[in-house]
Amino acid sequence: MAKIINGKEVSEKIRLRIAEEVKDLAAKGIVPGLAVILVGDDPASQVYVRNKKRACEQAGIYSESYELPGNTSQEELLALIDKLNNDPKINGILAQLPLPSHIDEETVINRISPDKDVDAFHPVNVGKIMIGNYDFLPCTPAGVMALLAESGVDCAGKECVVVGRSNIVGKPQAMLLLHNHGTVTICHSRTKNLAEVTRRADILIAAVGKPDFITAEMVKPGAVVIDVGINRKADGKLTGDVDFASVEPVASYITPVPGGVGPMTITMLLQNTLKSAKKANNIS
Ligand code: NDP
Repeated sequence: MAKIINGKEVSEKIRLRIAEEVKDLAAKGIVPGLAVILVGDDPASQVYVRNKKRACEQAGIYSESYELPGNTSQEELLALIDKLNNDPKINGILAQLPLPSHIDEETVINRISPDKDVDAFHPVNVGKIMIGNYDFLPCTPAGVMALLAESGVDCAGKECVVVGRSNIVGKPQAMLLLHNHGTVTICHSRTKNLAEVTRRADILIAAVGKPDFITAEMVKPGAVVIDVGINRKADGKLTGDVDFASVEPVASYITPVPGGVGPMTITMLLQNTLKSAKKANNIS
């Protein structure tokens, strides 16, 4: 039987620490500020934006949300980003993805000042992560690392396998595991004999976007299994990329969905916003 890593509990603990720090900053007259931009009316994105706003309020972080119509032009969006880049109240800017198809995601990401890029998607921040000398870590992979650390899982010398190579999860996740001295393999849709590779993993991270994709036969007994996936089943229920029922008896640690990695992503966003505010005010 695996130990269940409770992302909600870990997240609460870190959010309390963040709220304490925000309070200390407020005593110095500094209030971290986050701007969240949503273009269009994607229901899932609306929920994410609402959750981010609520999390900011609870942590004492100032937030602004811009819910723009789906026909907003790229120029209008870039003009808003320019305004926020120059607004001293705002330390973090987040453009909720996906953006409508008439807007070029890369252009938008590149326009956000690297100093306010709390998602860590800007090429400057991606480069810094590669080097290992970074200001911000991308929220979901950083959340995974925090869960591992809080569970006492040491990556050093371990076989780490990441299934998925997206720019927002798989690739940065692999870099963070590497910085923590894991021996890292990245798998993707062209990987041959996937189960053979995943079965080597002491730490297996699933970021595929396919419900119940990782089954017990793909997991080494005693492995730590982290499920990044968020998939909605036909019955409306959320499920991860890991077949929890079959993998849980095999693994030593496992994250559930919901309640595993999900809550950590917003927590890391708060952490990045706090970090940005401290940096802007030369506080270490
Ligand atoms: P992407 O769709 O961008 O990437 C999926 C990756 O999985 C790709 O690299 C793809 O390979 C790989 N893949 C697809 N099919 C297979 C296969 N059969 N075998 C091996 N690899 C495969 O997804 P994201 O990285 O954005 O997200 C992954 C999951 O994480 C999703 O469920 C998403 O909802 C969730 N997510 C959760 C977050 C959270 O807060 N918990 C935040 C962000 C995402 P290839 O590159 O070859 O196509």
